[in-house]
Amino acid sequence: MLTIHCAACRKKLWRYDKIGPGEVLRCHKNRIKKMYNGQIHEHKIRCPCGKDIGIDKGTLYKMIAKAFTYKGTKRN
Ligand SMILES: [Zn+2]
Repeated sequence: MLTIHCAACRKKLWRYDKIGPGEVLRCHKNRIKKMYNGQIHEHKIRCPCGKDIGIDKGTLYKMIAKAFTYKGTKRN
C-alpha cells in the first residue's frame, strides 16, 4: 500500500493499492483505499495547497509527474 503525498507541501493525499513494480503513472479510483486530503476541482484532483496532482480520466486519475511523492510498498 502506498501513501501519496503532495510534493509541494507534503500533505497526505490518499492511500493507494499499487499493483506491480512500475512507476505510479495513474491511480485507479477503485484502488484508492482511503482519501485524506485530495480535492476534486475542474476534472483534476488537487491538494488543498492548490497544487494539481492528477487529471480525472473517469475510472482513474492520470498522475502529474513531480507533483507527488509516495511512501510504502507496491504489491506484486
Ligand atoms: Zn500541497
